[in-house]
Amino acid sequence: MAKERDYYEILGVGKNADQDELKNAFRNLARKYHPDINKDPKAEEQFKEINEAYQVLSDPDKRAAYDRFGKAGVSGMGGFDYSQVDLSDILGDLFGFGGFGGFGGFGGSQYRSQTAPRRGADLQSVVTLEFEEATFGVDKEISFVRDEKCTKCQGTGAEPGTTAEKCAHCNGRGEVKTTRQTMFGSMVQVSPCPVCNGKGEIIRTPCTQCHGNGLERKTVKRIVAIPAGVDTGTRIRLSGEGQPGINNGPNGDLYVDVRVKPHKIFQRKDTDIYLDLNINIVQATLGDMIDIPTIDGTEPLKIPAGTQPGRIITLKGKGIPYLRGNGRGDQKVIVNVVIPSSVTPEQRVLLEQLGELLGTEVTPQEKNIWERLKEALNG
Ligand SMILES: [Zn+2]
Ligand SMILES: [Zn+2]
Repeated sequence: MAKERDYYEILGVGKNADQDELKNAFRNLARKYHPDINKDPKAEEQFKEINEAYQVLSDPDKRAAYDRFGKAGVSGMGGFDYSQVDLSDILGDLFGFGGFGGFGGFGGSQYRSQTAPRRGADLQSVVTLEFEEATFGVDKEISFVRDEKCTKCQGTGAEPGTTAEKCAHCNGRGEVKTTRQTMFGSMVQVSPCPVCNGKGEIIRTPCTQCHGNGLERKTVKRIVAIPAGVDTGTRIRLSGEGQPGINNGPNGDLYVDVRVKPHKIFQRKDTDIYLDLNINIVQATLGDMIDIPTIDGTEPLKIPAGTQPGRIITLKGKGIPYLRGNGRGDQKVIVNVVIPSSVTPEQRVLLEQLGELLGTEVTPQEKNIWERLKEALNG
């Protein structure tokens, strides 16, 4: 005779497992071996074993007896009398049933109580921002469409002056129970009331505005406080601004997706702002102090003497504010040295004089401008 497996072993828990651990272990195993889910013929046997282990260990008296005397200790205690077992609280979620009275029994149809509170659906909206708005934050009005209580019937669905009647068939519960026999004993099966379609009430005269569903589509306006530093792809959640809850359930949420328009002269990469700047050969050679645009306004920038094309000059803290935490990124100025495409006679004379002084000596370039740009952008 094969050695009988220990209940703790069957559930895969330690001897000190608490109720929550037991419940979780049981739930996970039930999900795997429940005969409605697992069609392997052995699964039914395994499920019975799992169930037996759980019934004993989840009962403190039976567990104590089992710990001392093994199975013999619980055999007289009605340990695994399936007909007494109410698995609904454990297995209810296996099939996606609602909490109270929602358990459909083994093999029951996929049924969710129509009268149980349910959370409303989440909604999504988009807000388009100017570059500066995304940088510094802004209060922005958005509008979106959602269902709200019908103003004519106040959400009851019944034409004003009439009321919904309690369904006599289910006595307003919205569901009916039938008892059936299964291999685990008699199980109560709950299904939606066929007369009221699970609503628990019957509307004889539906509201003409909402046709009895108690809702109407509305365009809703909200001011959204956009924090500084958002970027395309940032999502802002407005709690409770989604679809209304059902049967007094909570509302869903509204998710606002941010899109940021490109800027005329700035480009953003993460929290840094890039600016292309053209200077002339004399500024590059001798250095200069010039005013340049930043997202905060005009700022002086020192061009060091001997600046090569493609050099990047960093203005610390002139970038995008960090969305989380304090501080800001930098502004990076990419310097482009513009070679004149045409010159006046006077400029030509001066350049020719300069050329004579510089001579014709050339040196090979170590890295070209594109490589240096790539390094800078990836660094
Ligand atoms: Zn209405
Ligand atoms: Zn009914």
